[in-house]
Parts: sequence; C-alpha cells; structure tokens
Amino acid sequence: MSLPKLYIPGPVEISKETYSAMAEPMIGHRGADFEALYASVQPALKQIAGTSNNVFLSTSSAWGVMEASIRNLVQKKVLNLCCGAFSDKWFSVAKACGKDAEKIQVEWGEAIDPAAVKAKLEEGGFDTVTLVHNETSTGVLNPLKEIAEVVKSFEGVLLVVDTVSSFSAVATPMDELGIDVLLAGVQKALALPPGLSIFGVSEAALERAATTPDRGYYFDFLEFAKADKANNTPSTPAIALIYALREKVNSIIEEGLENRYARHAKLNAMIQAWGAKHGLENIAPEGAQSKTLVTFKAGNLDVPGFVKAVRAKHNILINGGYGKIKGITFRISNMGNETEESIQELITALDDVIPEFLSA
Ligand SMILES: *Cc1c(COP(=O)(O)O)cnc(C)c1O
Repeated sequence: MSLPKLYIPGPVEISKETYSAMAEPMIGHRGADFEALYASVQPALKQIAGTSNNVFLSTSSAWGVMEASIRNLVQKKVLNLCCGAFSDKWFSVAKACGKDAEKIQVEWGEAIDPAAVKAKLEEGGFDTVTLVHNETSTGVLNPLKEIAEVVKSFEGVLLVVDTVSSFSAVATPMDELGIDVLLAGVQKALALPPGLSIFGVSEAALERAATTPDRGYYFDFLEFAKADKANNTPSTPAIALIYALREKVNSIIEEGLENRYARHAKLNAMIQAWGAKHGLENIAPEGAQSKTLVTFKAGNLDVPGFVKAVRAKHNILINGGYGKIKGITFRISNMGNETEESIQELITALDDVIPEFLSA
C-alpha cells in the first residue's frame, strides 16, 4: 500500500507544485542566481509576517531558531510561557543554554493569561519572553495580541513568538504587535518538507544581540542580518527548500491572506463538528482554540486502535496524542493545502472506523 495521506500536525501533505519547485536546477549560493532567489521570496514573506524588515532563512528546524533566540537575546532572565509540549520545552532549552529562566506554567489544554504575564513581569529582572502562539500539542491558540500588549508595556523586554503551526493560517502582524522575533519552521502551517525555518527580527532585537556574548556562529542574528544585506545567508542554505518556499509564498499571496485565514477557520470547524457529533471534546477551551488542528480528549475512545484502523482501512494518518497526553488525546490537522473536499474525505473515513473503537 502506498504511504498514507497525512492529517497529522506536521509534517503535512506537500502539493505537487511544491515538489516540482524543489526539482529546479541547483545553483551556487554565492552569486547572483541565489541572491535573486532570496530576494524573490521577501515581498510575500514580509507581507505574510506583517513586517517591513526582511525575513531571514535558517537551514534548521524551528528549534534551531528557538534556541538561537535564547542565545542571542537573553542577558538577564527569560520568562517562558508554558502551556504544552513545545512551550514547556523552551524553558528547558533556556536552562540548557545556561540562561537564567523562569516560567509561567498552566495546565496542558489551558491558554496563557495575559494578566499573569503582567504580574510576573512586574516582579522585574526579565529581558525576554517566549510565547508559542499555537501550542501544537494541545491545539491551544494563545491570545497573542493581548500578551504582546502586556510585554510591550515593559521597557527593555523583548517578545519572541513561535508561529510554527499558525504562520499564514492566522494573522500574526509582527510589526503592528511589536513582536521582536517571529519564527516558524516550514513543515506545518506552510506545508513544505522539513529542514528550513523563517524568522523576522526587530531592530531592538538586533541591537540586543549585538551586546550579548557567546552567540556562537551558526545562529548568530548579526551574521544573518549581515548576509541579508547581500540577499544571502551566513552558511550554505537548503536551496531546494527555498525554491519550494518561493512557490508556496507566491501561492499564499495568490490565495489571499484573508481567504486563507477563512479557509483554515472553516476546515477546523468541520473537524470540531465531526468530534462533537461523536461526543468528543476539544481539550482547548472555547475562545482559545487553534484554527489549524484539533486536539480531542479521547474519552472512551481507544486511541491507538482507532489511529491504526484509520490507517489500515483508509490509508490516512492522524496523530495519537503528543508528549504526556499521548493516548489520552488525539490530534487532527487541517494545515496547509487542505480543502473542504479533502476534509470531508477525512471525515467520511473517520466516521466509517470510529464506531468499533468507542466503548459505552
Ligand atoms: C513542531 C513544532 C516545533 C518544533 O519544530 P521542529 O521542527 O521539531 O524543530 C516548535 N514549536 C511548535 C509550536 C511546533 O508545532
């Protein structure tokens, strides 16, 4: 049997157009051909990110840039906002980088409360805050605008936002919200193969980085800024993935950002409605629910059996939960190129399989 169609929250299905783009001829990365390619992705990327600065390209998965943000920006102490597997891990990573770190920890399935962020920052001593916009383990969409407002009201505190599973699917206007680093890996909301990340860096963040010791080389923000001036990257980039990125961002602009946001909201609502029909609850509370995936509470559902049967019978892959909620939750993604038709196909398959795995 062929490989399953992916409805897991990353990597997601890749379009034929993206695969074709990746097969374009190789070019040298120190020269006009690559500079033209780098420059060509900028207008669309800047528009999607909502920034007037160029967006840097890192040949790494998102964690590279997440760790880089810590190493480049934290001089005093970082506040990590923790509400699931990815945001929790950022705290451990800050510690592993030898930085002073504190966290606000909420239960998995809850969103970060902006008032709690304000209270914590009032204690003083912080110079950086990390936020995962869309916590992919729990399907919680955090109140980005409200949290950004709080962080911006504290002088000298920089805000780093992970938009790995929300970039281009939900509005994240970087400059307007005063975000200092906005980052995303490409294999989730952007529906490219893994291996590349994109990130915007504010002037304030670059100024901070300039006085931060031990930034290393590969992820030094100043190296990225210097290379960017020449439409280039510090080290050899994943050129095939940048061809794919060009195809993808152009297609996003063609679709229209508002249309794209609306499509994701609609497809996500279809999945939520499917769950409700079977009495399945969303782990994320109303008002803080992702638009790109749903994390359902398993309830009486035999998750491993269900996931396995959906694959065996319909060649479709969904995810049986992540981190410490594996098995007691399961996740379904509508990221990337999904359509009403493709989500309906998914629902038909799930409906076919679910009865034998729901016990009373
Ligand atoms: C997947 C994911 C990451 C980590 O991405 P890697 O590609 O494994 O580096 C980080 N943050 C969020 C929100 C994610 O969904």
